Amino acid sequence: MKQTKATKKENQWISWNKNVVHSYDNLITVYKEKDLVDAVANHDAIRVFGNRYSSSDICAGTQTLIDITSYNKIVRIDKKAQEVTVQAGAVLENVINAIQACGWCIPCLPDIDKVTVGGALATGTHGTNGYILSKYISKFRMVLADGTIKEYTEEDLETDAIRVSLGLLGVFSEITFKCEANYLLHLKEAPVKDDEWVNNLDEYLSTYDFVRILWLPHTDHGYVILGTKVAKDFKVDEIPTPEYIKHRRKTSKMLYKRTRKRPKFTVRANRLLYKLFFSHKKEHLGTLYDATVTKSRGATMELAEWTVAYSKFKELFVELKAVLDDKTNNAFVHIPMDVRFLKQDNVWLSNAYDSDVVTMGCVCRNSPAADEYLAFEKVEEVFLKYGGRPHWAKRFKSKQEELSKLYPKWDEFTSLRKKMDPTNKFLNPYLTKIFNK
Ligand SMILES: Cc1cc2nc3c(=O)[nH]c(=O)nc-3n(C[C@H](O)[C@H](O)[C@H](O)COP(=O)(O)OP(=O)(O)OC[C@H]3O[C@@H](n4cnc5c(N)ncnc54)[C@H](O)[C@@H]3O)c2cc1C
Repeated sequence: MKQTKATKKENQWISWNKNVVHSYDNLITVYKEKDLVDAVANHDAIRVFGNRYSSSDICAGTQTLIDITSYNKIVRIDKKAQEVTVQAGAVLENVINAIQACGWCIPCLPDIDKVTVGGALATGTHGTNGYILSKYISKFRMVLADGTIKEYTEEDLETDAIRVSLGLLGVFSEITFKCEANYLLHLKEAPVKDDEWVNNLDEYLSTYDFVRILWLPHTDHGYVILGTKVAKDFKVDEIPTPEYIKHRRKTSKMLYKRTRKRPKFTVRANRLLYKLFFSHKKEHLGTLYDATVTKSRGATMELAEWTVAYSKFKELFVELKAVLDDKTNNAFVHIPMDVRFLKQDNVWLSNAYDSDVVTMGCVCRNSPAADEYLAFEKVEEVFLKYGGRPHWAKRFKSKQEELSKLYPKWDEFTSLRKKMDPTNKFLNPYLTKIFNK
């Protein structure tokens, strides 16, 4: 364990895109479970952090911070049970590579592989079709607020509360994923008119194994990605990604920089980006990880994401499109807005608790301007109207009053939190406003 008593110059915790900054007194770097136990047992107000990719203020803001990123080993691979056990600070990329080397997969992966396993689980991180990531864990060790360790399995009553709990009930230590046999996806990508893809969702979801829509407001289109599981020896005449597509990020950045002063320019920027980067077709083969997960990104974006019951999505979409197209409200949104699909689960604070859901991302490609980006507010307003839930790691304004109405298990979660953390050791000011009023 390494403890740093911070000096003035170095006492700042800064999030990935620099939009959340906090000072702290103590920074503790943990390398083994005993370090984690000591850090939790011996400090009164702590937050643990992973790779700092979250946009919401959930990682720091307490006197003591625990950096878990050096506690990052693959602990065990159990070939018979098809399970992998890892330390919570392990980066997802390394975990997936180890799993793929065994011929296995986690069948639903987020579109980022640089996050830590603990950070991803704690915030309800999810992929494109399937369950949230924490539904794929079969057991885990957790350091509780008093510094004791408890091992949980799927049988324990608290497990579905802990799976998504923002580090409020304890700190994940070792985590075991149950894996499945890896598979190959045959993916076809093409732009499709909004009316068509929205009305075809039932068919897409019943026909394909992978369905993701990159919605492109102001262009009347979504870029639709459909995938089918195929045999290992399946052959396809690939339509490769055009060479110039690699300039998309740079071009978006350049165009959207101008939208800070002139939000209306977003409409032209979106149409141009659509023509340049989303009007092509593509066909390719690969594993879920190799073919669909983005491997690198610039840190110039800020993210929000909302989820709504699948049964309400079409109605919501009509209203959202009208609001975002309305040139009088300045809520000009950058593209793409990522549309994905999750299966119902029973995890208390999951976005998919009690129904299949559609998730929709909202991105500001100019992170320093995120506070002025009105699309975040408009998207939140519309989703709240339909009972939508925010992604815990991303940007939203709702506090306890709104959030408590969205989760049937809210009161049970807050009671459990008080029982498991009676001294509020794991709360920072932001989380206090949501969970302890
Ligand atoms: C570019 C980008 C793409 C993204 N793509 C997706 C996506 O496809 N799907 C999706 O759902 N999300 C996505 N996210 C959100 C991302 O998965 C979350 O922000 C995730 O929490 C980041 O992991 P991290 O290691 O950076 O955690 P941090 O941001 O460092 O921490 C997140 C939270 O987890 C807690 N925590 C960390 N470690 C532990 C632990 N061991 N035990 C208990 N609590 C812990 C922290 O206290 C904090 O509350 C994306 C974010 C970005 C920036």
